[in-house]
This record gives sequence, C-alpha cells and structure tokens, in this order.
Amino acid sequence: MSRVSIAAALRECKLDRLEAQLLLGHVLGVDRVWLLTHDDEVLSDEQRLQFESLADRRNAGEPIAYILGVREFMGLEFEVNPSVLIPRPDTEILVELGLSFLHERSRSQSRSRSREPARPARVLDLGTGSGAIAISIARYCDSCEVYATDVSDAALQTAARNAQKHGVAVQFYAGSWWEALPPEIGAFDLVLSNPPYIRADDKHLSCGDVRFEPLSALVGGNDGVNAYRDIVSRSREFMRSGAMLAFEHGWDQGEVVREIMGRGHCHKIETHRDLAGHDRVTCGVIT
Ligand code: GLN
Repeated sequence: MSRVSIAAALRECKLDRLEAQLLLGHVLGVDRVWLLTHDDEVLSDEQRLQFESLADRRNAGEPIAYILGVREFMGLEFEVNPSVLIPRPDTEILVELGLSFLHERSRSQSRSRSREPARPARVLDLGTGSGAIAISIARYCDSCEVYATDVSDAALQTAARNAQKHGVAVQFYAGSWWEALPPEIGAFDLVLSNPPYIRADDKHLSCGDVRFEPLSALVGGNDGVNAYRDIVSRSREFMRSGAMLAFEHGWDQGEVVREIMGRGHCHKIETHRDLAGHDRVTCGVIT
C-alpha cells in the first residue's frame, strides 16, 4: 500500500475539507488544529483504511453526526445514532425560550411574599429522541425536575446514556405523547416538544441527512401537524394553569400551530423566528 500523508488523505477523499478533517480527526483521536500542524505525517495502513471507509460512508450520504456518533447542542455533546433525530441548531430557540420561562418563574417566586418554600418547576419534553432538549434544560436550570417521553425504546436508551454522560437526573417514560405517563404523574409547569412535523409527501424526505433519520421522528401525518393536535388536546389534563407549552414546527406551520393552540387551552400565544427569519417555535400559556 502506498504511503499517504495527512494532507494527501484530506485532499484525495472528495469530501468538503471540514468534514474530511472531522473524520480523520476521529480516526486518529486528534483535533483539527493537530491535523493542520502535522499534515506531512504519514498514515499507517490501518488508519488510512479506516479513514477511507468513513469517507466512503459520508460520500454515500450518511450524516456526519451518525458517522462520528456525536453532535453538539447547547454547548453539550450528545451521543446520536440512527434511532434518534440529529439535534438541530434551530431547536436551541425552543430550549432558550423554556429556560427564560423558568428563570422568570423563579424570579417571580422569590419576589412573592409567600412563606412557602419555592416549589421546583416540573418540566416535560415530549418525544425526547436523543434527550437533547430535556438534558439541556436539566443542565442549565438548577431547580427543576425534568421528565421526558419517547415512543422508541432505542431512543430512550440513547437519551438515558446522554443524561448519565451529563450527570443530570431525567425521568424517562416510554409511550406516545401523554400516554407514556402514569396518571398520578402530577401537573407540569413547562412542556416542550419538537415533534415530527414534516408532511408525508414532502420531497425533502429524499434529500440529505433526513434520508437516514428515523421517519417516525420526522413525519407528522399527511398535513404534518398531527402531533400538535394530539398534544394540545390533552394538555389541560397534565398542565397547571399558567404553565407554558412550547413547540418547534416547520417554517410554514406557525399559523396552523397558533390556531390549534388557540382552539385548545392556550392564550398569550407567540411565535418566534429562527436565524433564517422563519416561524420556528410557538408557545402559549395554559388558561
Ligand atoms: N427540522 C427537521 C428538518 O426539517 C425536522 C424535525 C422534526 O420533524 N421535528 O429536517
């Protein structure tokens, strides 16, 4: 086998330079800066074969997050695999909105004159996948109890490993939306969800990373909004009056999600935009 330097391997793999560096860094167990400063070093045959096999997978379209087995979200590294959706930067808007609601809640509790000790906020992530939303909330909010559900056992196992990796306690329940929860669970103060919201006939399902992601985490029925209807319809049973319900949704679903929430039990409904200026997250307060 001919000898190949780091620089040559990066050049010859037909991948975008950043992705090639991430994959080669993964094989060698080094970071990008190390690669840049050692680019004349020669790869062993084993390293070269390993790198070529990862590059082939990437060239065949497999998401880089699944190949590396990790993705960063809210400054934390999450394990990902094909049983969970890859966390997206857009979803950080949902987490930040949840954190600011929790912050406001604890400020108003400390301002109130009640002598009762402040009750920790009870937070729920419906359809948690890798656990990115629930675990980020638990990590950045000290005084809350976090619960999460998913219909997929493989996803829940991944989420439980991620919770352990970040040293946070999240209680996980298996099942579809609210059905996962035992009836005596008690009322929540904040419920967040990034449910499947792509229309079944959306052409994007056959492009890019989503081809490799679990369909059950992506497709929300023929009009893409089944999950919002299901979740809103039972929100009053599981949420306190004054609690916040917040969803991520598709760029063109702000209006329909506001309508579903308005017909449900929500008021003070607001939509927040993503960095591209599209409607992305809608929240409301339970009446
Ligand atoms: N935002 C994802 C995408 O467009 C979809 C996530 C979801 O359905 N919840 O690829």
